[in-house]
Amino acid sequence: MDNRIPEDFIEEVRRQADIVQIISEHVVLKRTGKNYQGLCPFHSEKTPSFNVNPERQMFYCFGCHTGGNVFTFLMKINNLAFIDAVKVVAEKTGIAFPEKELSPGQKKKELKRKRFLEIHKLAANYFHEVLLNSPEGRPGREYLERRGIGVKIINDFALGYAPAQWDGLLKYMALRNVSPEELVEFGLAVSKTNNDGKQSYYDRFRGRIIFTIQDLRGSPIAFGDRVLDDSLPKYLNSPETAFFHKGRNLYAIHCASGEIRETGYALLLEGYMDTIAVHKAGLRNAVASLGTAFTRDQAKM
Ligand code: ZN
Repeated sequence: MDNRIPEDFIEEVRRQADIVQIISEHVVLKRTGKNYQGLCPFHSEKTPSFNVNPERQMFYCFGCHTGGNVFTFLMKINNLAFIDAVKVVAEKTGIAFPEKELSPGQKKKELKRKRFLEIHKLAANYFHEVLLNSPEGRPGREYLERRGIGVKIINDFALGYAPAQWDGLLKYMALRNVSPEELVEFGLAVSKTNNDGKQSYYDRFRGRIIFTIQDLRGSPIAFGDRVLDDSLPKYLNSPETAFFHKGRNLYAIHCASGEIRETGYALLLEGYMDTIAVHKAGLRNAVASLGTAFTRDQAKM
């Protein structure tokens, strides 16, 4: 147990959380009397032995004997540390995390992480909007059309297009109070020092199809891209930052996690386009590594 969070706060979150609702995001639950039943997400089964008791706010599986409270559930299903499970539930339940309990260093990191997520969400929206609606997105639309990829897949996978400009994203972000320095810090822009010693900035992703890399909860955390022709490099990824580690994430995990649980296995592919093609063909448990050798963390995920 993490003693950085006060015990009474944890208890408050546990008491107010709706375990049925939170588990329902991962398991199809049917009411049976006082309890809810579904197919266990922790072992493979055909008849439901996974039970949720809303009164006691507990779950238990008679098949594999996995059980616990809402935190245990999230820790197991999303591979979270205890403190993160408490955070997720607090957020879903609308209870403010006791900031004063965090050290100044932790507080600073937490604020930075929020900013990272906020900026990645803005960037994902920008690339997606360009792809769907702007004249600059036309090469991207044509490319995806040739590959037989329609609007549904574009939306499901948050695909986008980075226009062939040096400052498309920089300008978009400037209007939303995001500085070039922040974009550089999070890997979305590049800075260079001019002859006069001043810094100048340009977009990292230009003239390419954008693949949004999302975490398990669907938040954009990085981008991968692909050229439309034979130019090099063919693929480019966000660099590693304090909040994004290639070896700890999988492409399309957000779209595939339900099906992976259901089938009990994952299809591991190398490329983003391949992964999308496999999903499109109806195999929705496909994921891809992020241009690295397959890691222990990815396997655990
Ligand atoms: Zn089970």
